[in-house]
Parts: sequence; structure tokens; C-alpha cells
Amino acid sequence: MEAPATARSAIAGTAVGIVILAISATMASSGTVDTTDEVRRVQTVTQKLNGISVQINAEDAALRQYLTTKGTEYRRAHLAETLGGARANLDWLEENNGIDRAELDAIRGSYENYNRIVLDIMSHAESGVVVQGYDDLASMTFAPLRDNVLRIGDIHQRELTEYLQEVNRRADVLQGIAVATVGIVVALFAVCASVLVGYQRRAERQAASRLHEATHDPLTGLGNRAKLHHELDAAVRLGQAADEPFSLLLIDLDRFKEVNDTLGHHAGDELLVEVAQRLNQACRADDVVVRLGGDEFALILPTAPDHPEAVAAGERILADLRRPIRLGGLLVDIDASIGVASYPRDGHDGAELLQHADVAMYAAKRRHGGVTGYDPSLDGGDTSRLTLQSELRQGIGRGELVVFYQPKVDVSTRLPCGAEALVRWQHPVRGLLGPDTFIPLAEDSGLIDLVTAAVLDQALAQISEWTGLGHELPVSVNIPARSLTDDAFPAVIAEALARHGVPPRLLTLEITESAVIADLSRAGKVLARLREQGVNISIDDFGTGYSSIAHLRDMPPHELKIDRSFVMRMCENTRDETIVRAVVDLARNLRLRVVAEGVETESALRTLGELGCHEAQGYHISRPLPAAELTAWLAGSAMAITRA
Ligand code: C2E
Ligand code: CA
Ligand code: CA
Repeated sequence: MEAPATARSAIAGTAVGIVILAISATMASSGTVDTTDEVRRVQTVTQKLNGISVQINAEDAALRQYLTTKGTEYRRAHLAETLGGARANLDWLEENNGIDRAELDAIRGSYENYNRIVLDIMSHAESGVVVQGYDDLASMTFAPLRDNVLRIGDIHQRELTEYLQEVNRRADVLQGIAVATVGIVVALFAVCASVLVGYQRRAERQAASRLHEATHDPLTGLGNRAKLHHELDAAVRLGQAADEPFSLLLIDLDRFKEVNDTLGHHAGDELLVEVAQRLNQACRADDVVVRLGGDEFALILPTAPDHPEAVAAGERILADLRRPIRLGGLLVDIDASIGVASYPRDGHDGAELLQHADVAMYAAKRRHGGVTGYDPSLDGGDTSRLTLQSELRQGIGRGELVVFYQPKVDVSTRLPCGAEALVRWQHPVRGLLGPDTFIPLAEDSGLIDLVTAAVLDQALAQISEWTGLGHELPVSVNIPARSLTDDAFPAVIAEALARHGVPPRLLTLEITESAVIADLSRAGKVLARLREQGVNISIDDFGTGYSSIAHLRDMPPHELKIDRSFVMRMCENTRDETIVRAVVDLARNLRLRVVAEGVETESALRTLGELGCHEAQGYHISRPLPAAELTAWLAGSAMAITRA
């Protein structure tokens, strides 16, 4: 606002300066006209006075010649002719106010007087009388007349000189004013111009920064969704014009929400910035990297014309992203799912490519990460995440979530010692959906709290029912990390237990290892309260997350659940067996119960027994079953898991 004000003042100043210049120019030119008139007038007056002077001298000379020739006829005629010759000039002076009126009257009086004397001399001479002393009288009259005329002439000459000097002075002043004004106007103009140029530069800079803001993500500095649309359109146009294929990669971080919920938003931001840097480093100059929002990123790769190249690039990027990230003293593993769509094979415009890359990415997510190229078969029905999300919300409301139970047995006695509640979604069109199709989606959208509440409610009702049937079976429920950041969560659990009349020792909460590591004070307090209430805490997927041994000592759970990936391969892979053995030893040393999940074979079950593992869960024992089937299983087939 300051700049326009200065510019306005400068413009006003320039205008005033120009007006002053115009006035001085007008004054100067009218002064010149006045001066010329005055000089011309004074010159004419001086001419007239000179004329009078010449005339009276001529008259005096004619008189003198007349007197010396004693009035010859010729001289007389000459004298008579000469007399009165100054009258014309005197008349002019009178008519034009050439000189002061009194002076004129004095000259005219003297002149007429002189003429009269000369005429008297002539008439006396004609009558033959020579008047002695008349010529002296003439001389006496002539001398002051001549002097007077000369004096007045001089005065006029002097006045003219003074006048011209005054005119010069005034011209100098005017010139000074003009020079000063020109200087000021030039200075004001310069100020005005520099302010306007500065203002324009600032306006250009502001426009550029507004454009940058509109097309960039402030956190990571990467382009945003608007930028991606713009770049995609440009790439498609180029593709059409020059037959240049390219690929679009859609990247979604896995379990980002967990980091955000457990380590806090600041850590979440740090992680996103680090991911952005890694993506930038992994890309070439021609590639476009944007953050679409949340934990979603997109890449346009002009150098990857089709799936093989794009998938290879995606794998490279993924390897880069999987390097642990240090966040506030903790090493955090991240993973991502990448969907690929290539132009023109998977879409002919930006919108179609984006939609197909999204379908591919979500397919990758269902397969627990990795890179997936788009294939029309992936579309099967409506897999758009948004549709699924809104369907899930409605489905939860309509009670479409059902809970299956997978039993656990005591490894040494092989008797059922518990069950894990595993949710499924009875989708009205697509049938029974496993948790992998909708849990990541629920975690991304916040619907997970509704899922947790629904599963908890059904599981507690089931415990109560089994207790009534004489099976006092502890049930484990999976709890998302974010619940541990909710101070009200222990009270919610206590209320649910009370409502169903279930003793807390029959409920186990399974929390993934990564969630516990991020205990920080909040999660730690929530876990401590749950323990105080008598609820059991189990660390799920143990071995896949960040090393949390220190935390295990500070805030011990009741059990560790060895991740199924190690247990399933335990018999073929000695490395996996070593891990299982280490976890069992660790748990026993810390006096925690240890559960192996993913037990698919008898040999695995037997090995677990040798290692000293307490409990086992897996397809070899039973697949997850609807409640009624597990009731039957409990009643009749518990002892069927006999040693082969
Ligand atoms: P999880 O907690 O690790 O659950 C165990 C998964 O391993 C279950 O898959 C189970 O069916 C499977 N499994 C059990 N034994 C075997 C075996 O011998 N071999 C193989 N290959 N798999 C076995 P499911 O039911 O598909 O659940 C997948 C994941 O979904 C769960 O992994 C859990 O993380 C999540 N989930 C399931 N129910 C819930 C829930 O109610 N709430 C939340 N937050 N997550 C849930
Ligand atoms: Ca579990
Ligand atoms: Ca597990």
C-alpha cells in the first residue's frame, strides 16, 4: 500500500512541476513579447527625439547661414523651408505619449519660441532693419532647447538600458525557476518510475508465489494435486503429439497413520519430508514428483514407457523408501504400496490414468505392499477406495461386520486355551471380505474406531455366551495403534466389560509391535491403565516392527505373538527358526507368555513344543471359524489335534 501512495505523490508532484514549467514558459514568452514592444517603442521615441535634435540643429545652421549671407533670397527660402520641421515628430510624441507630457510641453514651448524669434529676425531683415542682438537671443533660446532635447534623449536611452537590465534579471530568475522545476520534475519522474517498477516487480513476485502456493505442498515443497493434473495433461498432450509413452506411479505409505497417531504429527511430518527427499533423489530431472495429500505421492516417469520399466523403477524407489528412518531417536521402518499406469496402454487421459494407477496401488496394498501394474482384471466390480469407504461406513451401521474366531491351543497339552477374534465384512454384493480388503482402508479413514467397537462388542458377547456354555475361553481382539493415544480408551474397555459381565482376565488386546514402540508417555499411560484393569496385553506380529526390547522391560505386556511369516517358514528356513527361537527365549526370560501364529504343520507345532513356546495358532489347528462353528469345535474336536 505504501508504494502506490508514494507513486501517487510522485505523479502529483510531476504534474505540479509540469504546470509550473508551463507557467514559466508562458511568462517567459509573454515577457519576450512585452520586452520587444517596449524596446521598439523606446527606439522610436529616441528616433523622434534624434529627429527633433537634427531638425533644430538644421534650423540653427540655416539661421546662421542666413545671417552671415545677410539674408540672400536663396538662404531665406532655405531657412523658411527648414523652420517648423520638428513639429511632425513633436506631434508624434504627443499622440503616442512618447515622453513625459511636461517635458514635451517644455520642448514644444521652447521650439515654438525659437521659431517665432527666427521668423521675427527674418521679417526684420526683410524690412531692412538689422536688429542687433537678435541672433544672440536666438542662440540663447536654441541652446537650452537643444540641450533639453539631448537630455531627454539621454534619459530615454538610460531608461531603456535599465529596463533591459531588469528584463535580463527577470529572464534569469525565470530561467532559474525553469531549471529547478525541470530538475524536480525529472527527479519526481524518476521516483515515480522506480516506485512503479518496484511495485510491478513485487506484483509479479506475488503472482509467482501465489502460483507456487497453489501448485505446491507447503510441507515437502513438492508439487501438489493441481500440479499433477497440469503435468499429466501436458504429458498426455506430448504423448499424443510426439507418440511418447510415459508411466504414472501412485505411491501410498503403509501404516503412516500409525506413525502419526503414535509418534505424533510432528514425527509424521518429518517422515513425509524424508520420504519426499528420497523420492526427489530417486528421480531424474525430467520426472515429476508430487504429494497428493496425506501419505500419497505420485510420479510421472517419461523414461518408463511401459509396465516393465515402470515396475522396475517402482521397485528401486521402494527399496529406497524401505531404509529405516530416524524419527526423534527411534528408527522407524516404512513401507509403501505402488500402483503403475502407463500411457497410452492404461488410459488416454490424466483422469483415467490416475484412476487406474489408484486401482493398481490399492491392489498392491491388499497384497501388503510392493509394486503392481494396472490390469483391467483388478477392476473387478467397484474397487474404488472412496466407494468402498462409504459402503463400509454404511455396512458397519447395518451390522455387516461379522467376527470369526481362530482358536489357540496350549502347545504342551494341545487343549484350547483361547481364540483370536478376526473381523470379516459380509458385503451385500461382493460376499464375505477378508480384513485385508478393508482394514487398511478403515485405518486410513478413521473408520477403524467403529470397526474396533463393533468387534469388541461381538467378542465380549461371545465370551459371555461361551462362559454360559461352560467354556471359559479368553479371546484376543486386535486393537489399532491409535486407540493407545486415546485417554478415554481404558474407560471404554471397562464399560464394555461391565456391560457384558465379562471378567477382564478373559480379554486380551493385541497391539502390533510398532504401535507399542511408540509408547511415549501417552500410549504408556493407556497401556498401564489397561493392565491395572486386569486386561491382558499381547504384542502382535512380534519381530516385524522396530526392536522394542527396552520397552518390553519398561512396560511389560503379558504375551508376545511371533509373527506368522517366521513361523510359517520356520521348518524350511533356519534363519526364521533362529528368530522364533530367539523370541521364545526372550519371552521366557522376561516371564511372558509366547504365542506362535501361522502354525500350518504338525512339524511346526512339534518344533514349537521343543523350543518351549506356550501357545500355538494356525491352520493346522483350525482356520478362523464363525462363532457357532467354533462352539462345536470346542465341544467336540479339541482333542482332535492329537500328536501324529
Ligand atoms: P493378524 O492379527 O496377524 O491375524 C492373523 C492372521 O493370520 C489372520 O488373517 C489369520 O486368518 C491368519 N492365519 C492364522 N493362521 C494362519 C496360518 O496357519 N497360515 C496363514 N497363512 N495364515 C494364518 P486374517 O483374518 O485375514 O486377518 C488379517 C489381519 O487383519 C490380522 O492379522 C489383523 O492385523 C487384521 N485384523 C483382523 N481382524 C481385525 C480386527 O478386528 N481389528 C483390527 N484392527 N485388525 C484386524
Ligand atoms: Ca492379531
Ligand atoms: Ca499377527
